[in-house]
Amino acid sequence: MARTRLVAGNWKMHGSRSANRALLASILKDSVKGVECAVCVPFPYLGEVAGQLAGSPVAWGAQNVSEHAQGAYTGEVSAAMLLEFGCRYAIVGHSERRQIFGEGDAQVAAKFAAARAAGLTPILCVGETLAEREAGRTEEVVGRQLNAVLEKSPFGEAVLAYEPVWAIGTGRNATPEQVQAVHAFLRKKVASATRIVYGGSVKPQNAAAIFAMPDVDGGLIGGASLVAEDFLAILKAAAAAGGK
Ligand code: PEP
Repeated sequence: MARTRLVAGNWKMHGSRSANRALLASILKDSVKGVECAVCVPFPYLGEVAGQLAGSPVAWGAQNVSEHAQGAYTGEVSAAMLLEFGCRYAIVGHSERRQIFGEGDAQVAAKFAAARAAGLTPILCVGETLAEREAGRTEEVVGRQLNAVLEKSPFGEAVLAYEPVWAIGTGRNATPEQVQAVHAFLRKKVASATRIVYGGSVKPQNAAAIFAMPDVDGGLIGGASLVAEDFLAILKAAAAAGGK
């Protein structure tokens, strides 16, 4: 089954209207073929980013979504609202949401289901902490995180992102072999067409080696997605790694 590689930027809580415009203009100048590109941006910028990307091959998404359809949930944003803007992706269960905002497996599964029900494509993040890895619990943790979602809804066209917590924003990335081992484990739990991307300090210097692994279908890129030159280099590394 063919899997088109995906490289998605996670801007986190960074950016400004002018910085976003400049960043996207640079990305759009250099269209990279053979790989899907997306940016996941802070909520207030979604409309403007949608306008700038209209008619371009770059998709866009949100970094979070409410598990509720509508109602008295101050500060929340529903999947239907995102869809109304033409949003395609929504990151669900990012480790920063799990760790800083206390999202547990059940809430992440509910967010995933809400996103799918509305017609968004969730990018589900799973990943272990350093302590869990050192205790030999990596498969147990990522398996539990994924199973919580699968028990509630089919995975469908969603994207799975393996993001070891100890490699996010730390400059410390998993070796290609460590990434491949976890991706191969996850692969057994989802359809062969499911894209499984890696995230955790992916940079132009290490992208090619990670993308060369057989079960790695692209990347979820944090810090390096804020630098056009680096993001483009990572996109090119994904394109050069060829089709699946
Ligand atoms: C992320 O935030 O999903 C991420 C992978 O960040 P970084 O690339 O900065 O480690």
